[in-house]
Amino acid sequence: MLDDMGRDIHYLRLSMTDRCNLRCAYCMPAGGVDLLSHADILTFEEIERLLRLMTGLGIRRLKITGGEPLVRRGTIDLMRRAGDLPGIEQITLTTNGVLLEQYLDDIATMGIGGINISIDTLRRDRYERLTGFDGLDRVLRSIERASAILPVKLNVVPVGGVNDAELCYLAEFAREKVVAVRFIELMPVGHASRFGHIDTETVKAMMEARFGTMERCVDRIGNGPAVYVRPHGFKGKIGFIHAMSEAFCGACNRVRLTADGRFMPCLGQPDYTDLKQLLRSGATDAELTKRIRQTIAAKPAHHGFLNEANPASRDMNAIGG
Ligand code: SAM
Ligand code: SF4
Repeated sequence: MLDDMGRDIHYLRLSMTDRCNLRCAYCMPAGGVDLLSHADILTFEEIERLLRLMTGLGIRRLKITGGEPLVRRGTIDLMRRAGDLPGIEQITLTTNGVLLEQYLDDIATMGIGGINISIDTLRRDRYERLTGFDGLDRVLRSIERASAILPVKLNVVPVGGVNDAELCYLAEFAREKVVAVRFIELMPVGHASRFGHIDTETVKAMMEARFGTMERCVDRIGNGPAVYVRPHGFKGKIGFIHAMSEAFCGACNRVRLTADGRFMPCLGQPDYTDLKQLLRSGATDAELTKRIRQTIAAKPAHHGFLNEANPASRDMNAIGG
């Protein structure tokens, strides 16, 4: 459906859990966060009921995210059932890749639109320091196997003082493989505001200095705001997600549902509709649909990241990126 700004909102990012097997420093505090209890997260039945209502309002693309979606048992089955819902045209998955290898065969058979795998460093010691887990080899194996059978995008968040020196090495994944390596500007959501922000222009300049002139790709890939380029001789592409720019919002097509049922029209604003509370207090389909419609219609014109008085208050693991 169209929101009040005339944007076509058809893409839902569905967070399966706030839990994660990693502790990426900019996403989750090392000391841990207050995790939701099982009773607090939506059941699969509740999620599917909401998905059915949302597809009725024009949601046709679904991103499965977390926390780490693959730590919630049943995520793969939910993806399969969601893919069968009338109106759903595409399902994609965002994962840190640690558990991906064991699920790849299942995922490949369900006709998924693609997988985003997050990887911020290629150094084992740095990976362990950044994520709290010595799992880089597993992630690299997942990337290798997944990219042989499915469309793969690699998500890299440049963080000042952490991985800035190796961004070009990460981009090298796209030289021999038909993958897209995307640099996502660090958004000052919750805990992340304490980390070093590197803007997209700086990353682009690094890439140009290393790879020379990069051809702008005009074909659209995926559902998001990434702008893609292809350095000479590369099979894959490099993407830039300039999250802090205002243009990002004018073309926004997405809404979010957190694991505890908060329906969020904007990642960068704290407002949400508590669909879990409505579900569990006996709301009818018509009542739920009305609240979903109202929330989409009132999607804010801009994120609030640049407004210090209005920071989004939750860490990214709870919202799902
Ligand atoms: N655990 C999965 C993963 O890491 O891909 C899915 C959830 S994670 C929150 C989704 C994406 O958000 C990851 O690529 C992660 O690097 C990114 N992310 C986390 N915090 C961020 C922040 N403050 N700004 C920009 N991206 C962020
Ligand atoms: Fe977990 Fe993903 Fe956050 Fe890393 S970015 S802590 S893998 S949810």
